[in-house]
Amino acid sequence: MRFNVAIDGPAGAGKSTIAREAARRQHMIYVDTGAMYRAMALFMLRNGIDPSDTESVVKQCALAHITIRYENGEQMVFLNGENVNSYLRTEEVGNATSVVSTIPKVREKMVELQQSLAAENDCIMDGRDIGTCVLPDAGLKVYLTADSTVRARRRYDELKAKGQECDLEKIREDIEERDYRDMHRETSPLRQAPDAVLLDTSSMTVEEVVERLMELCRERRG
Ligand code: C5P
Repeated sequence: MRFNVAIDGPAGAGKSTIAREAARRQHMIYVDTGAMYRAMALFMLRNGIDPSDTESVVKQCALAHITIRYENGEQMVFLNGENVNSYLRTEEVGNATSVVSTIPKVREKMVELQQSLAAENDCIMDGRDIGTCVLPDAGLKVYLTADSTVRARRRYDELKAKGQECDLEKIREDIEERDYRDMHRETSPLRQAPDAVLLDTSSMTVEEVVERLMELCRERRG
C-alpha cells in the first residue's frame, strides 16, 4: 500500500517549500502539480495561444507532451522532451496558468499523470485539488494557508532574493485574483477537503510547519 500525502492551499502559502523538505526527510518523492499546469501554460504562451481561448487551448493541449523525471530528488518537468523547469516560476506563467487550468480537458490530462505517479511512489503531492479530486484516499490531507498579505510578502522576498524587480502591492493583487479564480472555477475548485487538517502558517516559521507535517505523517503512517 502506498502512503500518499495531499497538500492543498492558495498561492504562496508555502506548500512547495514545506512539501519538498518534508518529502526529503520522509524519503518520499515530492510531486509539484502546479509545475505541470505551468508547463502547459508555457506551451500556450510560446505558441501564441491566448490562455482564455478555450477552444484553441483544448486543440493545442494534445500537442503538449508533459513528463516528469527525478534528478537528485528534484522534480524535472519535460515539455516535448525539453527540460522547462527554469521557465516555469515567472509571474507571467503563473497568471496564465490559473486561466489554462480552469479548462477540464487540461485538468483531465494532468490528473492522469499525477495519479500514475502516486500509484507508483510514496509521495507528497501539492496543488489545489489533490485532497478533493486527485487523491481522495490519501493517507494524510493538509490544507495549508496564510493571510494574503503574509503570502504576498513571502513571494516578494523570494523574487527580490532572486534579483527580480517587483512591486508588493501588485503581487498581493495578483495573488488575490489568482485565488479567486482557483476557488470559483467550475471544475475542481480549490477547497479544503472535509477530512483535511487545516494549517494556518501566517505566524509559523518554515521549520515549525515542516515539524507539524512530520508529526502528522508519523501519526498516520504508523
Ligand atoms: O502552485 P502553483 O502556484 O505553481 O500553481 C499555479 C497555478 O496552477 C494555480 O494558480 C492553479 O490555477 C493551477 N493549479 C491547479 N491545480 C493544481 C495545481 C495548480 O489548478 N493541482
